[in-house]
Amino acid sequence: AESYVGFDSITQQIEHKLLKRGFQFNVIVVGQTGLGKSTLVNTIFASHLIDSKGRFTSDEPVRQTTEIQAVSHVIVENGVKLRLNIVDTPGYGDQVNNENCWDPIIKYIKDQHSAYLRKELTAMRDRYIQDTRIHCCLYFINPTGHALRPIDVIVMKKLSEVVNVVPVIAKSDSLTIEEKDNFKIKIREELVYNSIRLYPFDTDEDDEEEVQLNETIRDIIPFAIVGSENNVIIDGKSVRGRRNRWGVVNVEDQNHCEFMHLRNFLTRTHLQDLIETTAQIHYEAFRSKQLLALKE
Ligand code: GDP
Ligand code: MG
Repeated sequence: AESYVGFDSITQQIEHKLLKRGFQFNVIVVGQTGLGKSTLVNTIFASHLIDSKGRFTSDEPVRQTTEIQAVSHVIVENGVKLRLNIVDTPGYGDQVNNENCWDPIIKYIKDQHSAYLRKELTAMRDRYIQDTRIHCCLYFINPTGHALRPIDVIVMKKLSEVVNVVPVIAKSDSLTIEEKDNFKIKIREELVYNSIRLYPFDTDEDDEEEVQLNETIRDIIPFAIVGSENNVIIDGKSVRGRRNRWGVVNVEDQNHCEFMHLRNFLTRTHLQDLIETTAQIHYEAFRSKQLLALKE
């Protein structure tokens, strides 16, 4: 049935077009100052970059982030082009009075939805709309080992209403294995207790494989991560890691932390789904609300 032009070949054509165009993927990192947000971003994507401007390739030390800042990169993963926007945010919750300190971040996310909607409504002739909608929000949790801070609960709740939130335990090298495992359980309980529904969401359309994939991800979330901008030598090989007084953490070793899980999750297994969920759930909710408001 090779010559038969059926649905298969149509999907292949669409797929080919999509792959040629590449993916636009936008990630935002959110959390207190000093939790390693900027470092993690550099750790995840530095090895993949083929063209980038900014400090990914430079040896400059991490500077403190003082405003919401988007940096663009192009990376190639398995022959597929990925246009990547990383939005770094200044730490919030650092002040004595933290009331509404999350507003600028929520506003930034909504502004991207709003910009997309405007383009959708006006520039009908544009075949391709530049997409700046945030597909994933990495939320950095302090590695206290005890509980979420009240502000974490509030902010994750607010964020989860507008974006796919993926929590990570920052600097997990400061926790023992037992502390880390208990902390994860505690965090999951608190999320349930506070009715915070996070990505991945199950839908009726999911097939068995997708349901399974979501389950494996739920078993890992929150990812316990370690970031580093430096390489260390282990067994004569240079790897991304951190050296301290009692030893070396190899960031890419799955026995040391879940950095590789997170990277695979973001750049491979859930990339497409994060993009689709953003369009179908978060953007759609925003859009219908705006259009309703217009009618009134
Ligand atoms: P940001 O304010 O959240 O962007 O944090 P930075 O990325 O600027 O990192 C703050 C400091 O924490 C730097 O000195 C980093 O080297 C250090 N750091 C980053 N990630 C880790 C980690 O996973 N473990 C440890 N122990 N330190 C880290
Ligand atoms: Mg920073």
